[in-house]
Amino acid sequence: QREQLLELERNRMLVESTATISHEIRNSLTTTRGFLQLLAQPELTFEKKKYAEHAISGVEQAASLLEEFLTYAKPSTSLREQLDIREELESTVRFMMPYANDANVSIDISHEYDAPLYILGESQKLRQCLINLIKNAIESMPTGGTLSLRTLKYANTVQISIMDTGIGMSNKQLKSLGKPFYTTKENGTGLGLVIVMSIIRKMNGKISFSSSLNHGTNCSILFQLK
Ligand code: ADP
Ligand code: MG
Repeated sequence: QREQLLELERNRMLVESTATISHEIRNSLTTTRGFLQLLAQPELTFEKKKYAEHAISGVEQAASLLEEFLTYAKPSTSLREQLDIREELESTVRFMMPYANDANVSIDISHEYDAPLYILGESQKLRQCLINLIKNAIESMPTGGTLSLRTLKYANTVQISIMDTGIGMSNKQLKSLGKPFYTTKENGTGLGLVIVMSIIRKMNGKISFSSSLNHGTNCSILFQLK
């Protein structure tokens, strides 16, 4: 009963988030259009660079909102396929490689266990989770660093670790993780982890964070093996 109420509350929150996000994306695009219209004025000279920068930032904000939310917002088919966790991780890393390279981040990936590790879930959603977590890790290293990804097997459980050598978090920040719209970034959405946590909950997984200010953060996810 209580669990059901909590679930309803979370769903309501996500429905509201979807409305907020559509609104935010529309806002970003309207702003961008405004600056592009200014740029199109033939007599314009010295404001050009500034307007172009505003327009680019508007596009980036909209793109980031879409990236973090789109897969998630797709109607759930509650598809449960057999997924090889190592393959999911490696394919996500390939996708994120250009982003890591741009940020001067090297990626170190290692698997303790020498055979496929299968869990049940939906590939797209799991990848959405991993993308959001890897993105946060990379964004925490503004001057570059190392992103380490590990898979470990304990009895009937697989652990995925995502470690960065970034700015880290205080205990107070750690407690705010997963609260809708909590962000410390200028262009952040504060929704990445809300989505991550919701997907992992649906997959009956567990996620936890530990962090040390100025040293880095370690995110650990546990899934039941199938
Ligand atoms: P966003 O990335 O848009 O800010 P998220 O929900 O993905 O939203 O993350 C919320 C906040 O959690 C971030 O703004 C940041 O302060 C903190 N955070 C998340 N992951 C990390 C990390 N790996 N290192 C440091 N801070 C992090
Ligand atoms: Mg994020």
